Amino acid sequence: MTPTVAIVGRPNVGKSTLFNRLVGKKLALVDDRPGVTRDRREGDARLGDLEFRIIDTAGLEEAEESSLLGRMRAQTEAAIGDADVLLFVVDARVGILPADRPFAEMVRRSGKPVILIANKAEGGAGMAGAYEAFSLGLGDPVPLSAEHGEGFSDLFEALMPHFPHPDDVVEEEDHAGKPLQVAIVGRPNAGKSTLINQMLGQERLLTGPEAGITRDSISLDWEWRGKPVKLFDTAGLRKRARVEDKLEKLSVADALRAVRFAEVVIVLLDATIPFEKQDLSIVDLIEQEGRALVIGLNKWDLVADQPGLLKDLKEKAHRLLPQVKGAPVVPLSGLAGTGIDPLMKAVMQVYETWNKRVSTARINQWLSEALEANPPPAVSGRRIKIRYMTQIKSRPPTFALFGNQLDALPKSYSRYLVNSLRESFELPGVPIRMLLRMGKNPFDKGRK
Ligand code: GDP
Repeated sequence: MTPTVAIVGRPNVGKSTLFNRLVGKKLALVDDRPGVTRDRREGDARLGDLEFRIIDTAGLEEAEESSLLGRMRAQTEAAIGDADVLLFVVDARVGILPADRPFAEMVRRSGKPVILIANKAEGGAGMAGAYEAFSLGLGDPVPLSAEHGEGFSDLFEALMPHFPHPDDVVEEEDHAGKPLQVAIVGRPNAGKSTLINQMLGQERLLTGPEAGITRDSISLDWEWRGKPVKLFDTAGLRKRARVEDKLEKLSVADALRAVRFAEVVIVLLDATIPFEKQDLSIVDLIEQEGRALVIGLNKWDLVADQPGLLKDLKEKAHRLLPQVKGAPVVPLSGLAGTGIDPLMKAVMQVYETWNKRVSTARINQWLSEALEANPPPAVSGRRIKIRYMTQIKSRPPTFALFGNQLDALPKSYSRYLVNSLRESFELPGVPIRMLLRMGKNPFDKGRK
């Protein structure tokens, strides 16, 4: 799908000139439909390698003064409704006039991505007006001269993030009605088999060295409160890996297999010896595979009498496992059959988080606040410029960050953004991916 871009603004800011420049020589096809769209022009535009449909709301500039504003507004609303991205144009020389404000308001209310353009800024003219444009609250203005063809490189960079990136086209399957895939992993003797047996309410998982042994993870169909669940167990392989020195390696490889099948992974810790090295590497693995995570503190029956332990272990979990910050920590006893309901509730909850979608408007609202609170640093004299962020997929939540010089973005700054995202949009216990997207700007061969 080709994106649609609308040019919006009060009369005389230079919308038609911009339209003509983006559509190119073979001028504006004038759309002759009646009603609101009568005066609007649409065309196929190109900027660098970006191709899009463009709508101009400029046709009314010669209309009669009395009827102008109302029609212009209606037309602008319609154009905004049809567009994926808005170019809001102001006159950098004249500055911001009261007449700009109602249009700015419409743009803001739409919640659609907007690029603020300070037009008529040829040769660096009208900078005062460009600064004034900040006051509209529509972000950084892009200084441009539609007439003289200046500033189109910056316009390209501002526009590029709003176009689909070939790598970002992800097919989202329909998961409704399919069983939730849950893996239970953990060190040998954490109590995985015991828990699964308890869940199934029957001795389905055969214990003992020769039974139930298969190279692949075993999957078992279960139901929790009417919801179908497929459980992936990793106990089987462990049973044949009795050789001590092979134990660690095998159980991690085995966990990996189960993790890959799963949507949500329960990491079962032995509450009497929690957070062993192997537990931490299993969590790393889950993070790398992008799965949602719940931490089960098993054998709670053995430690339930220790006051403050749960609080301690929760704190420890959040400190030792920052990559999945906020993952639910649930005490349980597979042997006694307690805590299974809270465990499954937590599973459902992180599953939802894992599938969560945050709207682009909300993300960018958050982003501008996050950037203001803590601006990105300068590298070799040039400030890293972050322009825009959007969620490109879920399962796990994955965001694309657009800007300049992002390859120089310090890890600590990426972490800051991810942590802030996690908090602001309530994404605990799931890996968060943030991909950096720098534009290959065809106008900008000299720089970077
Ligand atoms: P797996 O290797 O993770 O599958 O662990 P198992 O399920 O085979 O359990 C290992 C040992 O821990 C067995 O002796 C179990 O009886 C014991 N165990 C498992 N769950 C619990 C529990 O909740 N409480 C107690 N006290 N012991 C447990």
